Amino acid sequence: MTLNRRKVLKMGLGAGVALTSIPVAQSVIWSGKDFTRPGYEPALPEAPEGRAAWQNWSGLHKATPKEIFVPADAAALAEKIGAWSGRVRPVGSGHSFTPLVPSQDMIVDISRLSGLISYDSAAKTATFGAGTRLRQTAQLAAKVGLAFPNMPDIDVQTLAGSFSTGTHGTGRRLAAIHDGVQSFHMITATGAMLDVSRDSHPELFAAGKVSLGSLGVITDYTLRMVDNYALTRTITLARTDDIIANMLDLSKAHRNFEFYALPGSDYSAVIIHDSYDGKLEGRPPSKDEDFLATLKDLRDTLGWWPWLRRKAFGAYASAFVPDDGPMEEATDEYWKLLTTSRPTKFNETEYHIPEANAQAAITEINAIMSSRSDAYYPIECRFTGQDDAWLSPFNDGVRCSIAVHTPADESYRVLADVIEPVMQRHGGRPHWGKMHSLGEDELMALYPAFADFKALRKEMDPDGKFLNPHLAKLFGEDLA
Ligand SMILES: Cc1cc2nc3c(=O)[nH]c(=O)nc-3n(C[C@H](O)[C@H](O)[C@H](O)COP(=O)(O)OP(=O)(O)OC[C@H]3O[C@@H](n4cnc5c(N)ncnc54)[C@H](O)[C@@H]3O)c2cc1C
Repeated sequence: MTLNRRKVLKMGLGAGVALTSIPVAQSVIWSGKDFTRPGYEPALPEAPEGRAAWQNWSGLHKATPKEIFVPADAAALAEKIGAWSGRVRPVGSGHSFTPLVPSQDMIVDISRLSGLISYDSAAKTATFGAGTRLRQTAQLAAKVGLAFPNMPDIDVQTLAGSFSTGTHGTGRRLAAIHDGVQSFHMITATGAMLDVSRDSHPELFAAGKVSLGSLGVITDYTLRMVDNYALTRTITLARTDDIIANMLDLSKAHRNFEFYALPGSDYSAVIIHDSYDGKLEGRPPSKDEDFLATLKDLRDTLGWWPWLRRKAFGAYASAFVPDDGPMEEATDEYWKLLTTSRPTKFNETEYHIPEANAQAAITEINAIMSSRSDAYYPIECRFTGQDDAWLSPFNDGVRCSIAVHTPADESYRVLADVIEPVMQRHGGRPHWGKMHSLGEDELMALYPAFADFKALRKEMDPDGKFLNPHLAKLFGEDLA
């Protein structure tokens, strides 16, 4: 149930709060506040004559390239890239928050390179076009009895896009999804097609799984999969200090454990998935959007008075959350439970923190966001297991990913100014696809194989065909 201002205030009253103690003038000023950031523009950019228009999911990054090329097959793409004298950036579904894709030259949209190409049930492997969306991949794989070992929070990203930024779900015994890559085909800057596996090109294989589209354009992947499976899902509301105290044990006790700390409320929503082989009851419609709208109502109405917002949330929780069990329970195929649709747009930073620092980091970040009268977005906390890709944030052990969001139409300055320094102090590595301000020097210090990656990139693309300003900053290159 969403709350409007009147209902929220009634709840404040219900909680025994003396609303009359709020000075009327302050109340009027706060409730009339416009949170929209200067320059917010959700529409596609206007493209000059003869140019195309592109923007990412949140609308933060825009481009008007000479061309958005949508190849029908790998051969057409190889020919185009070989003949193109300008720069090239591949795009998946445009769900990254960092400007990895924008280019004023050519953007290559791989959406037609999609679908199941072949599979081997005995070996539990399957080959998909690199532009296949995660949901489509999961559905096609399920039809032949196969499955991803894990999935992220949404399922609309492409395989190439999600692997290339180290996209992950949650589960300390489960690696990020690029770890399933067994081999791939990559078109290089000259238009050559490479067939890459651990045996054929060991270095390019280790570098290419998470490569930010900086080495070449990948056209298909062969993935190691698992037998199709089902899960149970429970969502409960719990006190944030209890959850933080127990988060390491909970991450060990469950297949997929995550929580969303709700700033300014003392509470967290805890989401747990475990293996299941009983009758499937399905998943009730998600209440996430309603819940988010309620948190926004509370911010818009009571954000200036943290003690009152806390009370009103407590009243809301006791009215709508059962105290003797979960808020939601479901049993279904894994891909229907692990992912959720996110219609409300936001911007986001996420850092992957060494496990030893995870509790200190989330405690500090929750306290910072809870002290801000304008913050209301839940703070997400997840775990991911180790893999061995050169630029995988998880290549040195289990890490805890902490994500802070701001609404797409509001200021995101807090992410860089306040949150990033805390994440960095706790040894965090940034998600490649989520907002961060790091450049070559910091990345060199964070990744033992960063210099090797840089050298390989330079060897494969000496003229920087696959660079744009963001990548040039990451790799310390000059864009002539
Ligand atoms: C609502 C939302 C929820 C999200 N949830 C999660 C989550 O739960 N976990 C998580 O880890 N991340 C999450 N993300 C981040 C997202 O998964 C990553 O940013 C991912 O990279 C997006 O995939 P995409 O297909 O949109 O790729 P894009 O953003 O289009 O591209 C990402 C990168 O892949 C490269 N690329 C694309 N195609 C190719 C190709 N064929 N060959 C080589 N390189 C290529 C691009 O050049 C770029 O560098 C979320 C993002 C949003 C907007």
